[in-house]
Amino acid sequence: MMALARPIAAALLMTLSASVASNAQDPDWSSASKETLEHLQAMIRMNTSNPPGNELQVAKYLDSTMRAAGIETHLFEPAPGRGSLVAVLKGNGSKKPVLIMGHMDVVGVERDKWTVDPFAAVIQDGYLYGRGAIDDKGMLAANMETMLLLKRNVIDKGGTLSRDVIFVANSDEEAGGDFGMGWLIEHHPELIKAEFALNEGGRTRIVGGKRLYVAVQNTEKVSHVVTVTAHGPGGHASIPLEGNAIFRLGRALAKIGDHQEPIVIKPTTREFFSQLSKVWPNAGEKRAMADVASSDSGRVKRGARVLSRIPVFNAVLRNGISATMLKGGIRSNVIPVEASATLNIRTLPDLSIDSVVARLKKVVNDSLVSIDVTERGEDSPASDFHSPMFEAIRESVKALDPSMTVVPYLSTGATDSARLRTWGMQAFGLLPFPMNQDDEDRMHGNMERIPLASLDFGTRMIYGAVLRVAR
Ligand SMILES: [Zn+2]
Repeated sequence: MMALARPIAAALLMTLSASVASNAQDPDWSSASKETLEHLQAMIRMNTSNPPGNELQVAKYLDSTMRAAGIETHLFEPAPGRGSLVAVLKGNGSKKPVLIMGHMDVVGVERDKWTVDPFAAVIQDGYLYGRGAIDDKGMLAANMETMLLLKRNVIDKGGTLSRDVIFVANSDEEAGGDFGMGWLIEHHPELIKAEFALNEGGRTRIVGGKRLYVAVQNTEKVSHVVTVTAHGPGGHASIPLEGNAIFRLGRALAKIGDHQEPIVIKPTTREFFSQLSKVWPNAGEKRAMADVASSDSGRVKRGARVLSRIPVFNAVLRNGISATMLKGGIRSNVIPVEASATLNIRTLPDLSIDSVVARLKKVVNDSLVSIDVTERGEDSPASDFHSPMFEAIRESVKALDPSMTVVPYLSTGATDSARLRTWGMQAFGLLPFPMNQDDEDRMHGNMERIPLASLDFGTRMIYGAVLRVAR
């Protein structure tokens, strides 16, 4: 595949980048991919499980690697042991900066479920195994390689970038974010203010053994916490009481479990299914996708009914309600006066959590059950999927594999990009490494790994996108 795609990539780069760097040269990809792999292995071997994080070691590694290449860096320590790194390649200022970012912390591991050391960066059968391989050290390695290649192949060759390219490595993304992007925005906004940002949060999917599509996240659902509390008479368990709070809560939860929020097709979702329907392998689902993307309300309904059976698609078609915790009672022989459940509710962008709660109250229809928003998420504007950044990603992907489709994507998970979008940036989420469902499911799970060929593909995708948007 690569052998076929490379001449196309080179030709495209030559025609597209006339104004960057007439002297920019196509990187030596075989040594670049070796270099990226080595950096990723080095970073996986630094255990940055959060808590406690200890990301400073990775920040120092990135810092010294880029400084040795002559790239300007700014290293901060937001809290003891936590790191924050900003690196900058200066452009000529004719366009506003582009930011590429990743987080250095990882989630913890269940050591007994791994057959290799999660922090040894072992290579086996074409995969690199390790915590952080796909979330998010792979992206950090690809981003840093992009900086190194731009420095060597554009700037050092006498070429120019039309905008600054800013690299950011953050701490504490997996546990609160107090020492991450929020800290940088608060303390050094001047260093990171950009027109476009590339963050984690997308997908590059292999379906049926074939690279199929790149989903670029341009908007995301908003996460809220809602508490359902049932009230009732307390007393000794030996005398059963009508209105027992736990039974009452059970009835309320059963009704909430049966409730489905209405279908709402956001512009991103329409475009997502419209593009995907052109390449989707399963005929029934392919038709349903085209239906959902149509403007005929009957077809939209029919398509949504089919796609709703697939949990990941159902989650982008409507607000989602998941029960996550239960609380009630203090002794096995005492009837409590109160029992409660925690719901995690993810609303589609621009939809109000208060309206969801109002619907749930109606569904439960019990004055002794209260439903309250206990943590309110913040909505952010969607980024434009016709912007030059999105187009640059599309061109970069097409140059690598013309058969792939690039779609905008509304993510069900929350990312730091929401913060950036609220701040006025156009932020896009990628996971540039082609993966099948099995590989992707290992994120935050056991035996996390990255296919070596995918690491190379992802690095080229990011480099190609940044080069194009900064030409
Ligand atoms: Zn992540």
